[in-house]
Amino acid sequence: MFFIMGITDGRKDFDFTQTIICNLCGKYGRYQVFMTYTVLSLFFIPCFKWNKHYYVQTSCCNTLYELAPEIGKAIARGQQVEIQPEHLTRVSRGSSSFMYKHCSQCGYETAEDFEFCPKCGKRF
Ligand SMILES: [Zn+2]
Repeated sequence: MFFIMGITDGRKDFDFTQTIICNLCGKYGRYQVFMTYTVLSLFFIPCFKWNKHYYVQTSCCNTLYELAPEIGKAIARGQQVEIQPEHLTRVSRGSSSFMYKHCSQCGYETAEDFEFCPKCGKRF
């Protein structure tokens, strides 16, 4: 007998919305909560999940935050919770500035995928 095993990464979007006024772009937006995980499947049946991370993305400017696991688990159980700023750790800036690289030495900004600043040569 042999096993068909697979390890894949998954993502689950939760049916949770919270209306916010974004403190980064100042617009009305919504928190969208999702979870990423790694799953082990046997015979194509997911049987073990681990490496769970909960994230929050704002609908206004797509800023991504990592959500405190206890809040993420409460949302996963369908509990009514309110996400507070202290539950969030920012992972990336929103779409408006997220594409830009900013040189800390000369202040040059570029949307290109340069490894070194074209102006002063400092590594990004
Ligand atoms: Zn925003």
